[in-house]
Amino acid sequence: MVRLAMLCNLIMCGIVGYICKHEASPILLDGLRRLEYRGYDSAGICLWNKDQFQILKKTGRVENLRKETLKHDHSGQAGISHTRWATHGGVSDENAHPHISWDNKLSMAHNGVIENFALIKRELEAKGVSFTSETDSEVLLNLIAFLYDAELKQNHATADVALLKALRGALSQVEGTYGIIMTCVDLPDLIIGARKGSPLVIGVGDEENFLASDVTAFAGRTKSVVYLDDGQVATVSGTDFFITTMDDVAISPTIDTISWDIEDAEMGSYPHFMLKEIFEQPMAIENSMRGRFSQDNSTAQFGGLNIAPRELRQIDRILFLGCGTAWHACLIAEYLIEKYARIPVEVEYASEFRYRNSPLDKNTLVFTISQSGETIDTLEAQREAQRKGYRVLGITNVVGSTIARENDGGVFQHSGPEIGVASTKAFSSQCHIAAMLSLYFARMRDMSFTDGKEIAKALKAAPGLIAQALSRADQIAEIAKKYAHHDDFLFLGRQMMFPIALEGALKLKEISYIHAEGYPSAEMKHGPIALISPDCPTVAIALKGEIFKKSLANIQEIRARKGPVIAITDAGKDFPEDLADEVIQLPETHEVNHAPLVSIPMQLLSYYIAVERKCDVDKPRNLAKSVTVE
Ligand code: GLU
Repeated sequence: MVRLAMLCNLIMCGIVGYICKHEASPILLDGLRRLEYRGYDSAGICLWNKDQFQILKKTGRVENLRKETLKHDHSGQAGISHTRWATHGGVSDENAHPHISWDNKLSMAHNGVIENFALIKRELEAKGVSFTSETDSEVLLNLIAFLYDAELKQNHATADVALLKALRGALSQVEGTYGIIMTCVDLPDLIIGARKGSPLVIGVGDEENFLASDVTAFAGRTKSVVYLDDGQVATVSGTDFFITTMDDVAISPTIDTISWDIEDAEMGSYPHFMLKEIFEQPMAIENSMRGRFSQDNSTAQFGGLNIAPRELRQIDRILFLGCGTAWHACLIAEYLIEKYARIPVEVEYASEFRYRNSPLDKNTLVFTISQSGETIDTLEAQREAQRKGYRVLGITNVVGSTIARENDGGVFQHSGPEIGVASTKAFSSQCHIAAMLSLYFARMRDMSFTDGKEIAKALKAAPGLIAQALSRADQIAEIAKKYAHHDDFLFLGRQMMFPIALEGALKLKEISYIHAEGYPSAEMKHGPIALISPDCPTVAIALKGEIFKKSLANIQEIRARKGPVIAITDAGKDFPEDLADEVIQLPETHEVNHAPLVSIPMQLLSYYIAVERKCDVDKPRNLAKSVTVE
C-alpha cells in the first residue's frame, strides 16, 4: 500500500476508451492530453487496427506518445488509452498501460491498485501464464484472460457471455481498487469497463461513445454523460451502451449533462493552467455565491444540504475531513464556524480518520472537502462515517463525482474544471463556502440580523477584492525573481492566517520543490526560529486587527536575525516602512474574506518562483491531481 495521499491535493491516472465513428487515435490522444494532470509518468494507446491490436507505449508525457503514433499506421476506429501514475513497477515502456494478455486476446488499462496481485500472479504462473510487466494491473488482466479462455473452451460460451463472466469472476477475486477499460479481439465492436473505488464515466456521443476516468477526456465531443457507480460493469459499442451490476442485473442509466464548455478545460492564452486558474478566482468565488444568499441578505442559503434547519440546530459538533489543500480549507472552516456560530469544530486528515476509531458524539455533523470528489482517503473516510450512522455533507467541485453522489448532501463549488495539479481556485472557493456556511450556522443560532447582513455584504465584495489582489501580479513576479534561488522558506501567519501559511508553504513545495514550512507566527520562537538566516526568507502575513502589533513584533524577531522578510499586509501606511524587505499590500476587508484574499499573493509567489526555477508548474514531479490510490 503506497501512502501518498497527503502529498498532493488529491492521485489517479487517466483512462480513455473510444468507439467508433472516427479515427480513434487523435481522439484518444486528445483525451489523454486533457487527462494528463491525473498522472504523467508514461502513456499508452491500444487500437483495434486491421483485425489486430496495435499497441504503442512510451514513458514520459503524452506528447512523446503522440510523436510516436505519427510514425505508424493508426487508422483504427476503436481503442483504449492510459496515462499512468505508477504504483507497482517502475516507470518503463513495459509497465505502461494498456497491457495485452498473455494469449494476445485482451487489452486493458487500469487505474488503481490490486492489493492481492502477488498471490494471484504466483497461481497464474503455476498454470503457465507468463507476464511481461511488473504491474499489478497485468495480473488482473491475465486472470480475466485465463477465465475467459476457460469459459470459451470448457463451457462453449459465446464470446460476449464468456468475457463478462470472466470479468465478474476475476473482479470477485481481487482486492483493491480499479477503474478498468478493456477490449477483446473476439469482440472488436465493444469496449468494456468496470469500477470499484476509481471513477469511470460513459460519454454518450453521436454514433460514438467514450469510457473514461473523467469527463474532461471527451470535452468538446459530447456533454452527455453517465457516471458509473462502484460495482457496475459497462458494455459500450459505437451506438449503444449497457450497464449491469456484478450480479448481472441491468441498471437503467441516468444521462447527465456537463455544465461547462471545452474552453474551460483548455489553457487559452495562458502559459500554464495554474496561472489561468489563479486569474479565474474572481469568477470562481462569484459562482460559489450564486443563489446562495437569502432574499433579505442576512444569511446564506444552500439548496443541497438535505437537512432541515431544526435538525441542524441540534448539532453540537462538526467534524471536517480532507487531505492536502482541502485539509487546509477544513482548518479555515474550523476558525470561521467556531468564531461566528460557536459550534465546536474538529478537523482530521481523512487518511487518518478512516483507520482510526474516532469517538464521535451522536449530534456530530460530518463534512468532507474534496475538489475532485474522488480522493480515495476522503471517500473512504466519508463511507466510514456513514457506516457509523453519521450524516455526511460534502464540499466538492466535480458534479457527478463519487463523493458527491454518495454523501447525504452538500455544496457544489461550481469553480469550473481545475486542471493545474496545485489547487488554487478550488481552494479559495472552498474557503469562501466555509465562510458562507459559518454565516448560515451563526444566523441559525446567535448572530443578529444586522451582523448577518454585514457579513453577507462583505462576502459579496470578495470577487472585486480578489481582482485587486491579482493586480499585484507584476510586483510578485519581481519578488519571485529576487528570491527564487533560496532553498528554504518559512511561512508565518496567526489565527486564521495560520492555515493560509500552511497552504502557502505547501504550494511552494508542490510546484518548485523548495523546502518550506508553515507555522503560527508566535510558535516560531519555539523552534523554527533556529532556521532563520539570510538564506531563509520568511513570508509573513500581518493583517490589521487585534493581533497586528504582535505580528509586527514577530517580524522584528526575524529581522533581528537577518532573515529576509516578504510581508503580506492590508495595513497600508500603518505597516512600518522599513520593517520588511518586500511588502505586498492587499485591500482591507472583513476577515471572512481573508483566506481567499491572502491566498492570492501566496499562489502567485509560488507560481512565479516555480517558473523562475524552470519547474513544470502544471505537472510537478511525483504528484498528480487526484489521489485515488491509497
Ligand atoms: N497500479 C497500476 C500501475 O502501477 C495502475 C496505476 C495507475 O492508476 O496509473 O501500473
